[in-house]
Amino acid sequence: MIEQADAVVIGGGILGASVAHFLTRLEYGQVVLVEKSRICGGSTQYSAAHVRQHYTNEVAIRLAVRAVEMFENDEEELGGPTGFTRLGYLVLAPPGQEQALIDVVPFQRSLGVETGIVSVDDVAARYPELDLDGVALGCYETTAGYADPVLTVQSLVRSAERRGLKVYEGCRVIGIATARGKATGVITGEGEISAPVVVNATGPWGDRTGRMVGIEYPLELSREHEAHFDVPDCFGDLPVVGDLLFNHNLMVYAAYLLVPLVWLVLNRTTWGLKIKSAGQNPAAGWGCTDQPAARSRRPASPRADPRPGRAG
Ligand SMILES: Cc1cc2nc3c(=O)[nH]c(=O)nc-3n(C[C@H](O)[C@H](O)[C@H](O)COP(=O)(O)OP(=O)(O)OC[C@H]3O[C@@H](n4cnc5c(N)ncnc54)[C@H](O)[C@@H]3O)c2cc1C
Repeated sequence: MIEQADAVVIGGGILGASVAHFLTRLEYGQVVLVEKSRICGGSTQYSAAHVRQHYTNEVAIRLAVRAVEMFENDEEELGGPTGFTRLGYLVLAPPGQEQALIDVVPFQRSLGVETGIVSVDDVAARYPELDLDGVALGCYETTAGYADPVLTVQSLVRSAERRGLKVYEGCRVIGIATARGKATGVITGEGEISAPVVVNATGPWGDRTGRMVGIEYPLELSREHEAHFDVPDCFGDLPVVGDLLFNHNLMVYAAYLLVPLVWLVLNRTTWGLKIKSAGQNPAAGWGCTDQPAARSRRPASPRADPRPGRAG
């Protein structure tokens, strides 16, 4: 194992991979990534990986606008394929929440987001599959979509490796060395690496890593549950939908539809999902309206490591 580096990144999820990628692009020197399990073995692999810009604060919006540009040019900017699939992002608001959309959309547009207010009639005409009962207003962002989180991490790490990044998988950091209040390296199960810069990118384990140097991060962990449904062939394309009515996200991957399970349980409904069930195909549990048949199906995204659960 290498004994000296210019920067050590702890954690091989999206944050660690991204930091390592951009440090090597900046020619920071010898960068090392230490991962206790395997690259993308943590929470990133379960991410729904939405790539959208519908945020309300300026910093988040600017970062998201830049992120969309990067995903659009993933080979050049992120070092390889990311499985970015541009579907758009539709936000649906119930009565009482319209004003929030009316206020934020012009602000987002002023920061470069391609977004606009859409009426319920607009949404109904474009997406006849959606049951819009209880929806008062929407907004639609054209450049959003989703990525493949595992592929994205792999591309970031591999491109950084081509620039000299050293990766140690199956290598747990058990302590952080310090001197005069500053980190001076990491202590792993395999040996020690001294470095003037140590990056804590350990995600849900971030508080434990922080405690190694006496920092308390007030993390609260929660588990998300999601449901996947096979969609019939005649089903049309939908954007990623953020439903403020029931506070859930809905998205259609190539062959199945995903929705957080908690919503289904709370609403005690089998095929609600804000999707119409016309009953043409009772065996599948729902049917199709005529219109979606005219739509072409989106090609399958090259998911590197498809897994059943996807969060955030
Ligand atoms: C494309 C994309 C879009 C996303 N969009 C959204 C979104 O719209 N909304 C949202 O809320 N979230 C979003 N996310 C974020 C996502 O839901 C997760 O929060 C995020 O991926 C977590 O990444 P992480 O690197 O912080 O943690 P992790 O992926 O969990 O990585 C941490 C790593 O640290 C390692 N580790 C822990 N302790 C140690 C140790 N002591 N020594 C060595 N290694 C250690 C773990 O094994 C793990 O691999 C998105 C993610 C992606 C990739």
